[in-house]
Amino acid sequence: MANTFQELGLNSYLIKAIGEMGFEKPTPVQERIIPDLLSQENDIVCLAQTGTGKTAAFGLPSLERIVAHNMERYTQVLVLSPTRELCKQITQDLRNYSKYLHDLHVVDVYGGAGIEPQIKALKKIPQIVVATPGRLLDLIGRKAVDLSRIHTLILDEADEMLNMGFKEDLDAILESVPQQKRVLLFSATLPLEVEKIAKTYMQDAQVVTVGTRNSGSDNVKHYYYMVHEKDRYLALKRVVDYYPDIYGIIFCRTRRETGDVATALIKDGYDADALHGDLSQMQRDQVMRRFKEKNLKLLVATDVAARGIDVNNLSHVINYNLPDEVEQYTHRSGRTGRADKTGKSIVIINTKEQSKIRRIEKIINKTFAQAKLPTGEEVCSKQLLSMIDHINAVEVREEQIAPYIRLIEDKWQDMSRKEIIKKFLSVEFNRFLDYYRNAPDLNIIQEKKKKNEEGDAPAYTPKRGEKGFKWVKLSIGTKQSVTTRHIIRMMTSLGVGKRGIGKIEIRRSECFVNISANAAKYVVEQTNNTEYRGRRLWSGIVE
Ligand code: AMP
Repeated sequence: MANTFQELGLNSYLIKAIGEMGFEKPTPVQERIIPDLLSQENDIVCLAQTGTGKTAAFGLPSLERIVAHNMERYTQVLVLSPTRELCKQITQDLRNYSKYLHDLHVVDVYGGAGIEPQIKALKKIPQIVVATPGRLLDLIGRKAVDLSRIHTLILDEADEMLNMGFKEDLDAILESVPQQKRVLLFSATLPLEVEKIAKTYMQDAQVVTVGTRNSGSDNVKHYYYMVHEKDRYLALKRVVDYYPDIYGIIFCRTRRETGDVATALIKDGYDADALHGDLSQMQRDQVMRRFKEKNLKLLVATDVAARGIDVNNLSHVINYNLPDEVEQYTHRSGRTGRADKTGKSIVIINTKEQSKIRRIEKIINKTFAQAKLPTGEEVCSKQLLSMIDHINAVEVREEQIAPYIRLIEDKWQDMSRKEIIKKFLSVEFNRFLDYYRNAPDLNIIQEKKKKNEEGDAPAYTPKRGEKGFKWVKLSIGTKQSVTTRHIIRMMTSLGVGKRGIGKIEIRRSECFVNISANAAKYVVEQTNNTEYRGRRLWSGIVE
């Protein structure tokens, strides 16, 4: 096996450029496929995660081939990718690798941006076009791009392209490009649809698996925390507070949840923002720029919005809610632990979601560890130590501070060293001490619960007339001075008629309302993750 890029057979211009990018030795996927791509002609299906170095694995040999074709100005290589972000990232990577190759042009074309500048850029006749399928098809229709002589076609993140509904566009593109070309397909997973594409459009493709098929990166550790549904947000805050240097993505299931979680985090003083499909392209770019520059430490995102995000040094991926399609978890967790770094993928679940963890374990071929949420005291110690580390690392500008030293000494002359230290640390730290004073234990220890314990629906069988009723649980109770009248008023204001409301049982920090089955789902949609008297309200149907 080759230990260096020289041994793989790459030319010195490329090696110089990637050396400057910090690539010292090939990653496993590069080691595995670059020699084949340089010396053979066959098609390849490569099952590799994001973050494994696959862009260079297909990019470097493609550039070599363009060099072998004397850098001739016609479109030689086409790369298809699912999102605008990924297109831009691939293009930037290719430009970086080809820094020392004169007259090498890469153009990216994607939806959600003006088509005219892209048409203009294509007139330069780049050797490489990187495109999202929909926009490329549009450009083919306008005869703005000539793909009649491409020798290499790369389908990057093929499973994602199909997930995003690009199947028909892909078929149309694949049918319109020349037969005589090499096809490289990259995918993190191998669902049937991807296999179908491979069978239809590739010839005797060699399947290369880097790492275990479908498996997560070895650099990622998977943890889950189990809490009551109503404590999900509090658990998130505790995790975030326990890692003072956290830099990560928090995945949510819906746009609404994304917005709500981001808003709550911002309100609670975190450097967070949301990324979801309702944002304009300009807003998205702005959020992404702040995140990449680390002005945002937490990006709250939906799966679709997070596709193609290429940020390498994420410390954490947090699954605030697991995706409906558990396969999606591979993509989420693959955002951390990239390029030789380690990362943590954290899942917050309620008691009913344990089976999802088991399903994911099968898919990624790794086990999750159940972790215990830290106590308030543990969070505070961690924050305090981190604060001290930051203070220790501060550079003191002796000369600039010198004129003020007298003033400072005068002010503090009656205070001991210990007192001064305590006051200094309290400036930042009081917020944590206040918040975590008497903080409850949020962990659920899995043992058989007694009936009617908090969290269980009341042992109540609806009477005959109430057959079609369901229990809806709300995270408010006598602790918030909630009474039956409040609940009835809340339900009627949502439009539930009095006959649609059955028995109501109010406990200390939660209550159960019997709601007619056809209205129960609506009630949950309207109340879950909203605010009630300045407090987050969670609700759900108790099956
Ligand atoms: P990719 O899987 O192509 O998205 O690559 C993930 C990250 O790893 C990118 O930021 C690359 O710049 C980086 N990378 C790729 N190959 C290497 C390598 N051989 N050594 C160090 N970093 C690399």
